[in-house]
Amino acid sequence: MKISKGGNVFPLDFIPEISYMPLSVVITTFKKENVKRPLEGFGVLVPSREQKNGLKTLGTLFSSMMFPDRAPNDLYLYTTFVGGSRNKELAKASTNELKQIVTSDLRQLLGVEGEPTFVNHFYWSKAFPLYGHNYDSVLEAIDKMEKNLPGFFYAGNHKGGLSVGKAMASGYRAADLVISYLESSSDDKMINAGSSDY
Ligand SMILES: Cc1cc2nc3c(=O)[nH]c(=O)nc-3n(C[C@H](O)[C@H](O)[C@H](O)COP(=O)(O)OP(=O)(O)OC[C@H]3O[C@@H](n4cnc5c(N)ncnc54)[C@H](O)[C@@H]3O)c2cc1C
Repeated sequence: MKISKGGNVFPLDFIPEISYMPLSVVITTFKKENVKRPLEGFGVLVPSREQKNGLKTLGTLFSSMMFPDRAPNDLYLYTTFVGGSRNKELAKASTNELKQIVTSDLRQLLGVEGEPTFVNHFYWSKAFPLYGHNYDSVLEAIDKMEKNLPGFFYAGNHKGGLSVGKAMASGYRAADLVISYLESSSDDKMINAGSSDY
């Protein structure tokens, strides 16, 4: 990304390296008759202490419970998350290995029997920014850009929360700031903003 200010390149070398959490999303289906405890609800989150009981996944959404037409009538469809900061290496496991892990956890949680009838797997190498120690330097860099680049406003999950809801709130806030900025600008400033490089 290149940003210029007043015709000169605005250096971005103060932006620190950001760590991201990797995540695998594994979609499985099981025949309804092979799920002995099909819990009603949105899904389950697995607390980290449950790792000592052999559970390795982060959580599972009961997708076909929430959205019944997501799968044929005789199947349950599950969306399971593996990896994150708890288990970074496992996020990169092969589809086959993840299938075994997910099936084993769903066996404990829901009493699934046998193998899934369908498996799909998506790997997200940078699923979320990791809000860890030293993250203040990321927030400071965003603030510095907003202060030094009039008309530049940040929106997204690097600041203020990771969830869709928080990312949307951040987008609304940025949109309000853009509108105020444009409304408080002279015509001249608006023309300049329109021709800016960023
Ligand atoms: C697997 C997974 C599951 C999740 N589950 C949930 C959940 O259940 N509930 C929840 O609340 N949150 C969940 N999240 C988190 C949430 O989805 C994200 O934190 C949030 O969507 C981030 O929004 P954003 O606008 O900051 O970024 P994004 O939604 O990633 O949007 C950034 C956009 O910018 C585009 N882009 C990137 N670089 C450029 C460029 N150079 N030029 C132009 N465009 C560019 C990208 O293509 C993308 O469209 C999940 C995230 C993942 C990865």
